[in-house]
Amino acid sequence: MQMLNEVNNIDIAPYFKLSEFACPCCRQVILHPLLLKKLSKLRETVNRPLYITSGYRCLGYNRKVGGIKTSYHLLGLAADVRAKGMSALDLLEYAEIINFSGIGFYEKRNFLHLDVRPTKQSRWRG
Ligand SMILES: [Zn+2]
Ligand SMILES: [Zn+2]
Repeated sequence: MQMLNEVNNIDIAPYFKLSEFACPCCRQVILHPLLLKKLSKLRETVNRPLYITSGYRCLGYNRKVGGIKTSYHLLGLAADVRAKGMSALDLLEYAEIINFSGIGFYEKRNFLHLDVRPTKQSRWRG
């Protein structure tokens, strides 16, 4: 049904729609406002499109993609992101300035995991 494609098709910030953060298997979505705020700041800073390759994940989907049990994707606190025409390494510099509390650098697959975990800062390479 055509109409179902419109689920979550809602502008939630100048550069983002809610649907971009939804779980691909069930379209459910949880999104923390701080994550959206920081991603919006990142979008404005790099001044080019950001692609959310993974936002909220339900338990089943997180298991399917091999996410860890305590993944912040399950809580709406994390997004995997790449920027159009920019390496993950370059994007990393901007993400550090914006100070996401969790940053995973996935060089080979060319994306960053960014999160707003409430606990202490974490940095890793995947
Ligand atoms: Zn799902
Ligand atoms: Zn991630």
